[in-house]
Amino acid sequence: MADIVSTFRGRGMWRYRALLPVEARWGSRLVVGGTPMVDCGDDAGVYLWVKDEARNPSGSLKDRATEMVLAVAKRAGCTHTVGASTGNAGASLACIAAAQGMSATVVVPASTPFVKLAQIRAYGARVCEVDGTYDDAFEIAERMADDASVCCRNTGVNPFTREGKKTCAFEIAEAFDWCVPDWVIVPTGDGNILSGIAAGFLDLYTLGITSAVPRLLAAQADSSNSITRDWRDDDEATALPQSPTLVNPQTVADSLSVSRPRDHFAALHALRATRGACVSLDDASILAASQTLAQRFGLWFEPSTAAGYAALRECIATGRIQPGARVVLLGTGTGLKAPQRFDSVAPEPPPDYANVVPSRVPEDRRHFRGEGQT
Ligand SMILES: *Cc1c(COP(=O)(O)O)cnc(C)c1O
Repeated sequence: MADIVSTFRGRGMWRYRALLPVEARWGSRLVVGGTPMVDCGDDAGVYLWVKDEARNPSGSLKDRATEMVLAVAKRAGCTHTVGASTGNAGASLACIAAAQGMSATVVVPASTPFVKLAQIRAYGARVCEVDGTYDDAFEIAERMADDASVCCRNTGVNPFTREGKKTCAFEIAEAFDWCVPDWVIVPTGDGNILSGIAAGFLDLYTLGITSAVPRLLAAQADSSNSITRDWRDDDEATALPQSPTLVNPQTVADSLSVSRPRDHFAALHALRATRGACVSLDDASILAASQTLAQRFGLWFEPSTAAGYAALRECIATGRIQPGARVVLLGTGTGLKAPQRFDSVAPEPPPDYANVVPSRVPEDRRHFRGEGQT
């Protein structure tokens, strides 16, 4: 398969066009993908790399999916795009659509954090705030896209989101010289990143480009743990459940907050195909993990990403991930998107500065606290 590998040229995700369903017929102004793999060295006995997807144009891994979806949509003659989002998919849709001269409508639940709403509006997209949940937004977005000129980006419904996300797996494998790591940790809500990453690694394996597939560790939030509940650990004899257990999410990891994962079955399939594992974490450990990542490595991600780091710590403690394992954590989204809760975590100033550095949060910054909980 050396011939396929020799076609991998250029920057960003279109480097892997030979393995993708379409070839973009556009000059991409923005480079999606080609993100750095940060070598974090030895961390609690494992070798850790972080794939820094915060460096994508809109600050999250969602851009890989959007770039692919819009490349297909443009070829099909669509001029308008619509999508439901908890924030990042919408910001991504608004961003890439703007760069391609397409108009976008983003349907979001009322709980969407203010920073993500601002980002969507900044790119000029129409925002439709629904007095309801992500599930409600999802259905409304789907109804809005009943015309052939409108492309619906909804995760799990549009098959090309997964195709775009495969490219993250390709980049990880290439960074390891096609010799894959032992584990890849995937923060998981709808399960579309999980299924995309698995599909990417399985493609490489099937083509003989790699000789193994990494195990995937899905990280969820306790209150948004539908996939964790439905995953029967390593029990290959049991049929996978066809419909998800419904949950009632209430978590600081807003990008993982779904009551009914839209890629539920594909996510379970991804776990089975990679001999994966699934854990869910409480908000306190997610927030603590976010601070550790930022303060130890200089990598500030949103809490949803930090759930993955908390999952790593838990799996090291339980022995599920063995000492010496080579582990890649997907850094799915930047911390700048979720500053709420972090304005008050700074350590106390050293005594010398105690008199000059205000230690209380000024009144005019209090709006960050508890936002998204209206
Ligand atoms: C969307 C998102 C996830 C989860 O992806 P799913 O496909 O919904 O499982 C994780 N982290 C961030 C930052 C996201 O934006």
